[in-house]
Formats: sequence, structure tokens, C-alpha cells
Amino acid sequence: MSNNDRKPATRLVEAGRKREWTSVPGSKGRVVSPPVWRASTHLYEDCADLAGGRPNEDGHFYYGRRGGPTQWALAEALTELEPGADGTELFPSGVAAIACTLMALLRPGDELLVTDNVYEPTRNIALSMLKQFGITARPFDPLEPDSLAGLIGEKTRAVMLESPGSLTLEVCDVPALAAIARRHGILSIIDNTWATPLGFPALEHGCDVSVMSLTKHVGGHSDVMMGSATAAKPVINRIRRQAQFMGQVVSPDDAALALRGLRTMQVRLNQSTGTAIEVAEWLSDHPAVSAVLCPMLPGAPGYDLWRRDFSGGCGLFSFVLAEGADVAARARLVDALELFGIGFSWGGFESLAIPFDPAPVHTLRAWPPGIDEGSGLGVRLSIGLEDAGDLIGDLAQGLDAMGS
Ligand SMILES: *Cc1c(COP(=O)(O)O)cnc(C)c1O
Repeated sequence: MSNNDRKPATRLVEAGRKREWTSVPGSKGRVVSPPVWRASTHLYEDCADLAGGRPNEDGHFYYGRRGGPTQWALAEALTELEPGADGTELFPSGVAAIACTLMALLRPGDELLVTDNVYEPTRNIALSMLKQFGITARPFDPLEPDSLAGLIGEKTRAVMLESPGSLTLEVCDVPALAAIARRHGILSIIDNTWATPLGFPALEHGCDVSVMSLTKHVGGHSDVMMGSATAAKPVINRIRRQAQFMGQVVSPDDAALALRGLRTMQVRLNQSTGTAIEVAEWLSDHPAVSAVLCPMLPGAPGYDLWRRDFSGGCGLFSFVLAEGADVAARARLVDALELFGIGFSWGGFESLAIPFDPAPVHTLRAWPPGIDEGSGLGVRLSIGLEDAGDLIGDLAQGLDAMGS
């Protein structure tokens, strides 16, 4: 049975546990988890070994910045989880992974198309940071895949996707968008943080690069920040070269934390998805809520595409307050919550809530089509591992507090 025949839940347990990273040469047996190898100086056997050079790949001692067995084990595990991938580069944050990947794949004069509902820092990288290097970027509406072909010009080199989109959770037709990009000879990069390869094997769906913030679901315990870019050759080699130019390296302690989180990612995602659907259903019946933006909820925007393309969900979704609510009322709701922390992150074991307004960060379309935009005031929830009934009870008292 080859590794790729095994189900993701099984691969998650085995991934990255190579014998040479979990055993002592010359002795029998091994340990379950690769130990933390400090970023110590890498030593050569002799001058001939030094002169012979080393392959520029994980698994070869060269210099600390190229990582050691702890980082290699995590990178290899992420590669094994993404069918079609040849390698993974690790970055100190998700944003670093996105910035470095785009810099690796774009050159002065190139144009990038970026989905309008992309993560806000990604939008800023695309529209502001890349400009310094003579790279232009244009947002496009990911819900109209047919329009993409018309936007691809002579200078367009890549398209940056994210599905579901940040804040408003629109699911787009990634296979169709990636196919259009490929037909025009341009690369498609997806921010796959929401679904992870367990819920959406992005390369199998036609994307060239899958980027993740490991800070969210992979870490899973709100105690590590990291990012990754996973791709097939030769694209991964270009990203690797750029990462090395820019001196990107992650600490072995953080890599061990991410690897530890990865082992339980499937059960955590299953659990938080189930709870999120229960909470979303309850919210959708509440009179103070005009719309629930949760692709896993039957009838919600994006549900059909989510059912077609995804094999899992997660705990992150949003809702819109009904007409009549104002910013102060929304603040009363969020402040009254006892089980939800107020924080930008998500994907941890603990639930979070954050108020948001998509209009300033989405320029083509603030909300998904066909929903009741109500007050135009959004709240995003990251559902953790708490009991669903307790979370619903907390939201009930929070929504009551809104009126007072
Ligand atoms: C949080 C987030 C990132 C950035 O990750 P960091 O590790 O916080 O830098 C990227 N994409 C999405 C969709 C995110 O939510």
C-alpha cells in the first residue's frame, strides 16, 4: 500500500516520521516523535566532503538556516498530506509564506490577479508591497469565474485565490479558476488555511501552490506562529530559492509544536466543524441575525460548492446582524460573550469572536450575493472545542445584551 492510497487521517499519523529523524544510528528501535534538533552548526566529515557540496534539499546537513531534522519532519509531513506536491517551505508566519511565494513567482513588470475577498494583509502585499518591485496587482470577483479569462493580459503571471474568502466566507469555484489560469499559462496560488489539505487537496484541484498559515489549524493550540508553501517541482524550487535568499527559517521548537498540533488536526477539525454547524443553525433562526455566512450550513452561501469540492470544514464562520443593530449594539454583544475571546486569530482550541465590516477591505463586492445584508455589521466566530450547548448559551446571552 503506497502512502497516497492511505486516507488522510492515517497519513497524518505517519507523516514525517522518517527512521533517520526518529532513531539513533547504529541502535535498534526509535521514538515516535522527531526530537527537537537545535539549530546547531552543521559539520562536514572532511574538506573533501565540504568541497563536494550538498544537494539543496531537506534531509542534508549544510548550514543551520536550511533547517534540521525537526523542520524537515514538519515540511515532509505537510508535503505528504498534499497529493501532487514535491516539497514544502516553512516560514515564520503565514504572511511571510504569502509574501515570499509571490516574490518568488513574480518579476518586475508582471501582473497578479487577486481575489477581492482575500485576507487583508495578502491584499496589502499584493497592492502595496509588490508595487515597490514594479509588480502590479488587480482584485477580481472570484464568484464570477467566467470573467477571469477576460482579465488575464499579456503581463499577468499569477492568480492569488482564497476559498472560502476571509471574513465573508464566499466559496469560489477553485477548479474552474485554476483551470482557466493553467490554460493561459499562469500560476494559481491558493491560501488554503481554512480547509487545509484534509478538507481541500488544492493541488489535486488544479492549483500550483498551496499556502497555509500554520498558526491556525496546524498549530491548533494558539501557541505558535508559522506558515508554509507546498508545491510540485519546479515551482517549489523557485519558492525555496527565494526563501533562502531572504533568510527564512523557523525555530525547531516551533516546528515541533506545529508537528504536534498536526497529529490531531483531523479530530479537532471534525469536532469544531460539527459544533460550528450546530451554532450556525441556531444563529440562523435568531431574529437578531439576518444572515449566517457558513459554507457548511445547508442553504447558506457557498454550500453547494463546498459540498462538491470540500471533504471537510472547520470552526470559522461569520454572521450578519439584522437591521436595527448599530456598532455600539454589536460591541455590547461581543463584550458580553464569556466563552469567546476577542482576537484576530482562529483555528485554536478556544473560541474567538471579532466584529468586522467588509466594505473597506473588499472593493468589488462587500457581501456575498443573495444574502440579507441586514445592518451591514458582521461578527466572525472561530469555534473551538467547547461544548456546543455552552457556546450557544453564551451567544444567546450576548445577543440579549445587545438590546439593553
Ligand atoms: C491568519 C491568516 C494568515 C496569516 O497567517 P499568520 O501566521 O498570522 O501570519 C493568512 N491567511 C489567512 C486566511 C489567515 O486567516
